[in-house]
Amino acid sequence: MSSSETAFTEIQARLRHVAAQHGHPAELLAVSKTKPAAAVRALAALGQRRFGENYVQEALAKQRELAGLDLEWHLIGPLQSNKCREVAEHFDWLQSLDRPKLIAPLARWRPAERGPLNVLIQVNIDDEASKSGCAPAQLPALAAAVAAEPQLRLRGLMAIPAPHADLALRRAAFARMHALYRELQAGYPGVDTLSLGMSEDFELAVAEGANLVRIGSALFGAR
Ligand SMILES: *Cc1c(COP(=O)(O)O)cnc(C)c1O
Repeated sequence: MSSSETAFTEIQARLRHVAAQHGHPAELLAVSKTKPAAAVRALAALGQRRFGENYVQEALAKQRELAGLDLEWHLIGPLQSNKCREVAEHFDWLQSLDRPKLIAPLARWRPAERGPLNVLIQVNIDDEASKSGCAPAQLPALAAAVAAEPQLRLRGLMAIPAPHADLALRRAAFARMHALYRELQAGYPGVDTLSLGMSEDFELAVAEGANLVRIGSALFGAR
């Protein structure tokens, strides 16, 4: 087995184990930023379909190279408003919607034949100055604005908690996200995705209710 095959098998086993422990499914988003198309192709050959990218131009180049494969592409990095058209045209999911200004251009540019763009709202759950994401208080208005656009489909929430060395603090941030997610679900029955957890902490995230984890370095090696 190649090293990526070994890593993929191990991560899948750990993910299944922790999901079973907590009694809900959890799916893997493979974060392929900075890695070549060949690395994506290798994981696709093992059955992985969902890939996350941070940079629009880099993602478009890989999508072109891998056009024959049936992959699902998520933008997980911050979105500049001048990139809304490319994202609407070429991605399946946007996980980093964090301000009202992006909504109208995404809806306007979404090609009808692709169906609605799946949207997660990113929350800046630890209120970090350096991080994108909306404040929890902005969530209701943002959710309503996304839900009002037929070209967008509100699917849930995403966050990147502060990388506290104290895992109890990370866990508390995941739990706050889960509470916000449950509130959102109460208002929008189509909400089904809580994207939390990365290579270092995905098991904690699943323990607190995450059902989509975003894993890069543990699958593809250090960047
Ligand atoms: C890079 C990145 C990841 C993956 O991080 P790893 O620590 O390499 O698993 C997950 N989510 C976001 C938003 C990222 O930018």
